[in-house]
Amino acid sequence: MTAPDSAALISRVKATGAPVVLFGAGDVGKIAWWALTSQGVEVTCFSDGRAEKHGTSWSGVEIRSPEQLAALSRDAHVFICANYLFSMPKTLGDMGFTNIHHAADLLDGVDFTGADIGMDPVFIERKVALHVRETHKAREERENSLVLKYLDVVVTEACSMKCQDCSNLMQYYTKPRHSDLDLLGDAVDRIVDSIDRIYEFRVLGGEPFVNPKAHRVINQLTAYPTVEKVVIYTNATIVPKGEMLEALRNPKIVVDITNYGQHSRKLEPLREVLTDNGIDHLVKIPEWTDSGRINFVERDAAVLDDMFANCCVNDILTLLNGKLYRCPFSANGTNLGAMPITDAEVVDLTGPLSGLELRERIRALYSRRTHLTACEYCNGRDYRTPKIDPAIQTRRPLPLVSVT
Ligand code: SF4
Ligand code: SF4
Repeated sequence: MTAPDSAALISRVKATGAPVVLFGAGDVGKIAWWALTSQGVEVTCFSDGRAEKHGTSWSGVEIRSPEQLAALSRDAHVFICANYLFSMPKTLGDMGFTNIHHAADLLDGVDFTGADIGMDPVFIERKVALHVRETHKAREERENSLVLKYLDVVVTEACSMKCQDCSNLMQYYTKPRHSDLDLLGDAVDRIVDSIDRIYEFRVLGGEPFVNPKAHRVINQLTAYPTVEKVVIYTNATIVPKGEMLEALRNPKIVVDITNYGQHSRKLEPLREVLTDNGIDHLVKIPEWTDSGRINFVERDAAVLDDMFANCCVNDILTLLNGKLYRCPFSANGTNLGAMPITDAEVVDLTGPLSGLELRERIRALYSRRTHLTACEYCNGRDYRTPKIDPAIQTRRPLPLVSVT
């Protein structure tokens, strides 16, 4: 079933009979392909900036470079299915294209039941919702409102596994502690009070269920009317029960399970409990990049800015021990004392900061376009970062050079 706005857009596309291009051959592009083809619209091609995709195809549809689009008629309908929400329409406009659409307007409200594109239905729903939020965020940024896409809430530095390449740097903690939940609750209250909306709180650690009081945080987060989803990240080593399970029985909750094979020893009982209690969940097989080492490398500012711009977690604000950071690596690296940080890269909520002053500090952190100090110590997290085997366990914490 298509939503009214989506149906009107599809009718317009059909009426012109012009070529149809999906700009972005990632998950959103594939979902958009289904939304169009299931309504009888033929997709001419995908287009994508990533050189390794050029000349390949997905579901029989060719993936072309942006430059190749110059060969198409200028009345082609181009759907923006990537994160270049306003820069790419401008580039396409400069090329003479006039029918440029946001995929969000195609996908919002569509029922994806039966979409056979190799993705879990819960994943499709979240992916579409996040893309729609991202588009709204970009539109709203122009109107001065403040909407956050993700906010990581760290409830513990401890984990039930000891992955030597954990990108949240758990392998460096020698004496991991649970977060002070009074400090955390107060900081979250002030953040929510000072912004307009947040799409997704992400509760994590380490392993969040290691903290026996994590349900207090979960209950607090799901209660905010301006928060849409609360996602719990777990490695399937602990099955929640009692108050923890009760906290998960909320329509805003999604439990995001990483299946680490033999290490995720409670996977099946966990799935069973979540299913029996009607709790939305999904299971992922991990794919890791080499992004879990603290290693200072001297690089030009332009190289670091490029790393930051392409990083897949550069918009995940992270709240750790009363301080708000721009990414999880910056948060944990600073918390460990392994890297310096400037005042502009952190919002300190251990003091009385609140209201408008807090809002403008969060806005400045969230809209930052240049690299963080932490990027100098990071191997990057993008499509160019080498892939590694996930979840290799270490017996002891890794050694750390302190800079503080
Ligand atoms: S990557 Fe491994 S060590 Fe890090 S939080 Fe996940 S399970 Fe724990
Ligand atoms: S430090 Fe920079 S490159 Fe590394 S994860 Fe954070 S934003 Fe990305």
